[in-house]
Order: sequence, then C-alpha cells, then structure tokens
Amino acid sequence: MSKKIAIIGAGISGLSAGIFARINGFDAVIYEMGQKAGGVCSSWERQGYYVNGSIHWLVGSAPGTDLYDLWHQLGVIEGNTFHNHSSFVEYKNIRGRDVHFFTDIHKLKKHFLEISPEDEKVIQELTDAIETVANGSFPLDRAFELLNAWDWTKALLSNLPLVVAMGKYNQISIKAFAQKFQSDILRIAFENFWALEMSMTFFLMQLAYAYKGTAGYPLGGSGRFIEKLEKRYRDLGGKIEFGQKATKILVENGRAIGLELNHHQTIQADYVISAADGHSVLFELLGEAFVDDKTKTAYQTLKTFPSLVYFSAGVARTFEEIPPSIVGVNIPLTAPLQVGNYTHERITFQIYNFDPTLAPHGKTLITAMVDTDYEFWQNLHEHSQEAYRAERQRISDALVDALEKKLGNIKAHLEFADTATPITYKNWTGNHNGSYEGWLPTPEATKLKLPSHFKGLSHFYMCGHWVTPGGGMPPAAYSGRDAIQLICRDEKIHFKTSEL
Ligand SMILES: Cc1cc2nc3c(=O)[nH]c(=O)nc-3n(C[C@H](O)[C@H](O)[C@H](O)COP(=O)(O)OP(=O)(O)OC[C@H]3O[C@@H](n4cnc5c(N)ncnc54)[C@H](O)[C@@H]3O)c2cc1C
Repeated sequence: MSKKIAIIGAGISGLSAGIFARINGFDAVIYEMGQKAGGVCSSWERQGYYVNGSIHWLVGSAPGTDLYDLWHQLGVIEGNTFHNHSSFVEYKNIRGRDVHFFTDIHKLKKHFLEISPEDEKVIQELTDAIETVANGSFPLDRAFELLNAWDWTKALLSNLPLVVAMGKYNQISIKAFAQKFQSDILRIAFENFWALEMSMTFFLMQLAYAYKGTAGYPLGGSGRFIEKLEKRYRDLGGKIEFGQKATKILVENGRAIGLELNHHQTIQADYVISAADGHSVLFELLGEAFVDDKTKTAYQTLKTFPSLVYFSAGVARTFEEIPPSIVGVNIPLTAPLQVGNYTHERITFQIYNFDPTLAPHGKTLITAMVDTDYEFWQNLHEHSQEAYRAERQRISDALVDALEKKLGNIKAHLEFADTATPITYKNWTGNHNGSYEGWLPTPEATKLKLPSHFKGLSHFYMCGHWVTPGGGMPPAAYSGRDAIQLICRDEKIHFKTSEL
C-alpha cells in the first residue's frame, strides 16, 4: 500500500508538493482551510471582471533554466501564453520627467544617461551587475540538503562573477544604493521601486530575469495559473479537502503521525508537510517544542513583506496609450495618502490593457498594491466595523481620484472599485501579519537559511514562501518539490520528475 502524505494548504507550494508526491507514488491529500486552491495566488470575479490577485511575472517562464523545467513538470507552461514586457515599471512625472525601467539593459543605460549623464559611473555599475546576475545560475533542481561538496564546488566555480556580485550586493539595501545617484530623479525612482529595505541582490535578480526574457506574465493571471496547477494534481489522482483547517500536528515519539482538523477530527498519515503560514505552524500547530533557538530568533526578528491594501477597479474603457510593463505605471498623488502607518506620495497601478481575458470586451481591469501595516488594520477592525469599512472606502476613493487626475476619463466609466486589506489576507490565507510573500529579503535575511525540518521531529517537512526569505512563486514551487525529494531520500526511493 502507498504511504500517505498529509499536506497542509493548497497554495502553490502545497500543490507542488502534492504533484511530486503523486508522481513518486505516494497517496497525497491536501487539507485546505479555505474553499478554493491558490492561497495568496488567487483571482476572483467581480461584475464580469476577473481580478488578478497576484502574478505580475513568473520567473522561469522561458526555456533554459531549472525553474522553467520545474514549471513544465508542474503543468503550467503548456497551453499558456506569456507576455514579456519591454519595461519593468514606468514612473510618471518625477520632477517633470518620465522614468522607464526598461528590461533591455542597453536601452535602460541610454535612458538613465539621458536623465543624468553625471551618474555614468553608477549607471554602468548597475547595468554591469544586472548582466552578471543574468549570466549566472545556481542549480535549483534539488533540495539544498541533497547537494554534495562536488555540486557546491561546481556551482561556485562556474558562477564566480555572480558569487562576487552577490557577496557585495547582499549587504546593500535598495535605499543605500539609491543614495549613490546624484540625480534626484533617479534616486526617487529607485526609492519607489519596491520595499526599500530589500537587499540590492533581490532588485538585481528581478531586472536580470526580465532582461533574460524569463519573467513573463501568464495570460489569465493567477486564477488561470492555479486552475492548471490544480488540474495537474487532480489528473495525477491527488485529493484536496476544502474547509479543513489543520489545528494541530500530531506527534508520537518524535515522529509526525497525522493532523487534528478543525479542533475535532484527526487523520493519520505517514508524513506531514506544512505548506501554510510558518509562524502558526511552528508556534501553534507544533507548539514550539521542536523549534530551535536560531529559528525562534529569526521568526521574532526578521521583517516580513508588508501587508497590502489591494485595490481593484473595473473601467468601461480601453487604455491603448499606456505601454504595458511588468508592475505597472507609477503616478504621483496630489496629496500624500495615509494608509495605516504608511504615507504614500506615489502609487503604482497595473493597467491590464495587455490581458483581455480579465475584463469584458472594451473594458479594463486596474489594480494597485498599496503597502501598509497589519497592526493598524487589526486595531481598526477590532474597534469598529463601520470605521474599518469607511477607511477602505476613503482609500478606494483617493485612488480613483488619483487615476482620474492623471489618466482622465475614469469616474464616468467606473463599474466597480474595491479594496482588500491585511485583514482579508490574514483571514483568507492565515499568513503572519497578512504578509503577501513571507520574509522580506533584507541584507540580514539573505544570510539565513530557514529550516524546513527539525532535529527531534521526523516525518515532517515545511515548504512555501516562509522557508526562503524573498518568497514568491518559484521558492513556493521548488520548496514543495524539495519536501518530496527529502521524503524520497528518507524512503530510499529514486525521485522522479515525471510520471512517464
Ligand atoms: C498582490 C500579490 C502579487 C504578487 N506577485 C507575485 C509575482 O508577480 N511573482 C511571484 O513570484 N510572486 C508574487 N506574489 C507572491 C506569491 O503569490 C506567493 O509568494 C506564493 O503564491 C505563496 O505560495 P505558498 O504556497 O507559499 O503560500 P500561500 O499562498 O499563503 O498558501 C498557503 C495555503 O495554506 C492554507 N492554510 C493556511 N493555514 C492553514 C491551516 N492551518 N490549515 C489548512 N490550510 C491552511 C491557506 O488558506 C493557503 O491556501 C504576489 C503575491 C501577491 C499577494
């Protein structure tokens, strides 16, 4: 009889673990507390629009890398159309200039030099670093634990320029790098790129993948992507039970033996994989007993990606004049917008004029990821539902106003405008602090490898965006696969990537 693997959570990491479990002959059941698969990578319908709740780019979307092979094995490449945009983000009107982060580094360099010839040295440093990162590649086809000394030596020797660049840029935050520019315009653009405390390596990686043309947007967004992943899992005979919240991991003599679900039912399993929020799994479901001090400290001190107010709007018009880009168009606000304890002077809107599947004909979906803090929304939500609703409405109205002022002709065609908050993220996916991508890859975090299993607890593995600082879809997918590779090692069976 096949051994049973119980998987907590049907996000990308849980589905990936489930797919490889089935390929390798295990009986797999995913227990998902919600009513659909996807976790934070979800879409939802609203008045004929299909709101893309996650994917802007899929790293590994083009052939030639281990990640592409992984996505292929997971069944999300075939039949998918990927858009490779020529710009990462476009900033409107910084001190009177538009700034484009072109994905072609030669175009990027020329454009930045036109804006600030006096910054030639730092612009050259930037584009050289992007090229170095683009030319390197570490093996991502195996769990870290399964690489031997020779694998490491080979990987390091064949990637020396990348190793040197990472050694340098891991230690520098985006904020610190931005200060190198003499030009206010470029500095402001950098400071608005993403979370400022992130290490420069992470920034370089995004631009390097885009430069290589392997950071495509899959048409249909998150919902269609998850449909494919779920179909692959079910076609392999995998099962998902929805509405099943894991409330305890059952342990006997230092071995995980099953789960308690919804506080009343128990199920037995040969292995347990957690593909859910790391914090609640370690400190609630396992009850701290197996967590070593290093991990405890990391969970107490590392910064998480901020949570979001996620704005979405349906507009009954087209936007041919806006060039598509990976994360969208960043526009200045006429007055600063307070969102929890964050003050925003500019907001990036994604105008989905390149994905007609997300809106009825002649209409366009617009979204925006607005960083905010969990505590503010938690207090507000606990204190007064009315005040919570009013705050969501205030922010939504302000964002619609900003679009109206900058792009024009919005309000007359607005069909809906909505906001999800950190409370939505927390209730919907259980992620700690409502974080949308796990740990922020700060210079401190890039030095850490968070454990996916613990001494003194066998038959238990963790995967998902809490296991690798920086999070995102690729680590979610490969950490799910890695958990099955490690189980195959434990069971002394050869790991397979395909059922054929
Ligand atoms: C707006 C937005 C934009 C993004 N853009 C990108 C992008 O362009 N590219 C990219 O690579 N990444 C992007 N990400 C991040 C990426 O989507 C996530 O990092 C990834 O999907 C995380 O997958 P996961 O399986 O690790 O976790 P999750 O998606 O959090 O899945 C965990 C699952 O576990 C379930 N669960 C939790 N607790 C329990 C329990 N006790 N019992 C049972 N089930 C439980 C949850 O309901 C959930 O379904 C974005 C995210 C957001 C929100």
